[in-house]
Amino acid sequence: MSEMRDNCGVFGISSNTECVHDIYNGLDFLQHRGQEYCGIATVDGKMHMVTHYGKVAMTFNDQDLGYLKGNMGIGHVSLWERQPVTWQSRLGEIALAFSGNIMNADTLLQELKNQGKAFYRGYNVEILSQIIIDAGDIVSGIASIAKKVKGAYSLIILAREGIYAARDLYGFRPLILGQDAVRYAVSSESRALENLDMEVVRDVRPGEIILIDQKGFHTLQQLKSPRRAHCAFEWAYTASIDSIIDGLFVQEARNNLGQSLAQRDIDEGDFSADIVAPVPMSGIGHALGYHRRSGITYQEVFLYNRYADRSYTQPTQKAREKMAKRKLSVLPYAVEGKRIVLCDDSIVRGTQILNKVKDLKKAGAGEVHVRIACPPLMYPCDYGVSTRSHEELAARHFFRSGNITTMKKLRELETWIASEIGADSVKYNSIAAFVKALGIPRNALCLKCWDGVSPLVAP
Ligand code: SF4
Repeated sequence: MSEMRDNCGVFGISSNTECVHDIYNGLDFLQHRGQEYCGIATVDGKMHMVTHYGKVAMTFNDQDLGYLKGNMGIGHVSLWERQPVTWQSRLGEIALAFSGNIMNADTLLQELKNQGKAFYRGYNVEILSQIIIDAGDIVSGIASIAKKVKGAYSLIILAREGIYAARDLYGFRPLILGQDAVRYAVSSESRALENLDMEVVRDVRPGEIILIDQKGFHTLQQLKSPRRAHCAFEWAYTASIDSIIDGLFVQEARNNLGQSLAQRDIDEGDFSADIVAPVPMSGIGHALGYHRRSGITYQEVFLYNRYADRSYTQPTQKAREKMAKRKLSVLPYAVEGKRIVLCDDSIVRGTQILNKVKDLKKAGAGEVHVRIACPPLMYPCDYGVSTRSHEELAARHFFRSGNITTMKKLRELETWIASEIGADSVKYNSIAAFVKALGIPRNALCLKCWDGVSPLVAP
């Protein structure tokens, strides 16, 4: 269970019938990407929109769904802000939603204000909206965003003629197309499409601008992409394990990352254990991979309470941590006297894994060896994933500056983290091992939260 969170998920659909229930269900399948706000906009000659504070299934009622009429619409789940936003403008009525982050938002905001533009809150999505409206048409507007915006965005725009979908030039955040005989859809993750019984067609390409209408998908423009920079963290944690992102199944990626951790233990030859267990839910794929490579028995040691947070979104970090504790309880029978390999996706501040190790030891575990799929987190994310500040990252308490460039340094950190969290040992995948396990070229990935290197290419 990571303390990192994605900030948004988007879903859009053009159908031959009323579409609101598909959007509602699509968003429900993307809820893991953002739990604070949700919203839906539809069009049936005029635009309708409803947004809520909270999760989709908890907040949208029959009245909302009855009001959201039309065969085309978009939806959004978010950690930060209410989206979609709607505008009445010279482009007609439009609604926008996006996933990502604008790094130069302050500069763009000031420039636009200087041009006389007004903003409600100055949110990123308002900045994107104003750039598009200013350009005079949606395609030119999206092309203008690609020139002006520094950062990451997967963007969907609802207009009367259809839904425009675009991905930034680097493809940081995922965006994927799906269809059946009468519906054409776009989603942050494939699972929303497949669970709505649609066939996954393909990923939106970095820099591609697509119009989705009742005849299908139309590529309107393909902007030049200087390089790819898919968020590597999607496969390790953010995306659901039943999704496929840019051609790689998330489950396969997590299995490979777990196998890589096991291989390191085998290569280092000094290790044995009774069981391998995941921290649910994000550690499951990694633990299975570890089990496959090592042959050590896979055994759940935590019970996941699926009803623990069904009622409402926890408002503070403290409340969320309390809820996290209620969500996972130890299974004493599985734990007592056992030497356990405990797999998780990442260590952010270290408090959650410390609590898990403590819980297992209290329940009688003989040894707890923590294995982490991601390399040590050294930098906050600039591209739309909610990480901690530089100072809060556990690895930064040991290495105040610089990067972990050698296995010696990695081992020093692992020894220190193990003592901090009370584990018998801790090991991470190195960056090289992580990239190898994904099987995607390093220069097609964003690894910035681990190596500090911005993948953005100067124009
Ligand atoms: S910095 Fe990390 S979390 Fe952010 S996009 Fe890059 S790999 Fe993903």
